[in-house]
Amino acid sequence: MNALGEKIARLLAANGPISIAEYMAIALQDPEHGYYTTRDPFGASGDFITAPEVSQMFGELIGLWMVQAWRDQGSPAPCRLVELGPGRGTLMADALRAAKLDPQFLASIEVVLIESSPVLRDVQKTTLANFGKPIRWLDRFDESLSDKPLFLIANEFFDALSIRQFIMAERGWCERLIGLDTSGALTFGLSPQPSALAIPSDRGLPDLGAVYEVSPAAEALVEQIAHAIAVEGGAALIVDYGYGDGAGFGDTLQAVSRHNYASILDAPGEADLTAHVDFAGLGRAAECAGAKAYGPVEQGEFLCRLGIVDRAQRLAMANRRGSRGLGKQPELKRQLDRLILPGQMGTLFKALAIVHRAAPTPAGF
Ligand code: SAH
Repeated sequence: MNALGEKIARLLAANGPISIAEYMAIALQDPEHGYYTTRDPFGASGDFITAPEVSQMFGELIGLWMVQAWRDQGSPAPCRLVELGPGRGTLMADALRAAKLDPQFLASIEVVLIESSPVLRDVQKTTLANFGKPIRWLDRFDESLSDKPLFLIANEFFDALSIRQFIMAERGWCERLIGLDTSGALTFGLSPQPSALAIPSDRGLPDLGAVYEVSPAAEALVEQIAHAIAVEGGAALIVDYGYGDGAGFGDTLQAVSRHNYASILDAPGEADLTAHVDFAGLGRAAECAGAKAYGPVEQGEFLCRLGIVDRAQRLAMANRRGSRGLGKQPELKRQLDRLILPGQMGTLFKALAIVHRAAPTPAGF
């Protein structure tokens, strides 16, 4: 067992079992050994690769989406451009470069990055060093971000937020917990009492062993964001992998290390832990808070509607003239395919938009 495993085992021995949500929070965010606190997980040599790391086109199109959403709401100034979990800062760098076509937009925004990892904050500072304005970092989204129109992007952030899991047992829906086995190792178990949580029952009686997932952390955060948008105006774009309709049922908790599935319990803090995002649930949370939700739309469809194929062709032409150091065209084609094809990131990943009720339908939806 690694050092974080031993720390968790001591906690369990003293206090009893913890929920999947508590385990995820510790494994990902422990200040000493947590997965995101201790490393830069991206790229070919890391654990996984994200859309902005695949191609600059992704961040550029999102930058243009933000400019359009801002103009749709009367170009409010001042306002905020916020990113949740900016990773290496690549998406924001590409988005700000594309947004240069509207200097008024750039003049109007304060850029705020929400990042809990000190390691990734440093990487973001380097990536964004040449952006001409100060950037503010916060550990979490808080009320200080609710007093101006809010333009927010989150790519592969919500999948890292904690989920709770419930399993259908003879005695009813019980919460899946993590405790210790007789040898002192971490193991999965079930709450002794059925849960009082309201679990949707509109699809008949579930089979024994059925799994239901919910992310109170994600829903609470979306409510906060949507409330700010409902009151001050603005737009949020959430891109992640997850369910469209019929969400919630099925076990999607997974650990990934070095581009392969890994054990969830064996080496906490050494693998990324994620779960599918329940877009329909987030959309409902946003509407309850008074904003309007659009989507989810599959990422391939969304990026095509924003003009990614045209953008790729322009980049390829620029490459041919040797004026851009972007590599050869087969590489560009490979990047495009990776972002939009079904079976790659095109259909599993989806985009959800949350905008002010009075705003027009956002681009791509
Ligand atoms: N958006 C980036 C990175 C995705 S990985 C990209 O697309 O490449 C998730 C990011 O969210 C990392 O930057 C991670 O450190 C950050 N993160 C994860 N959980 C967080 C939390 N609870 N609070 C703040 N940041 C978090």
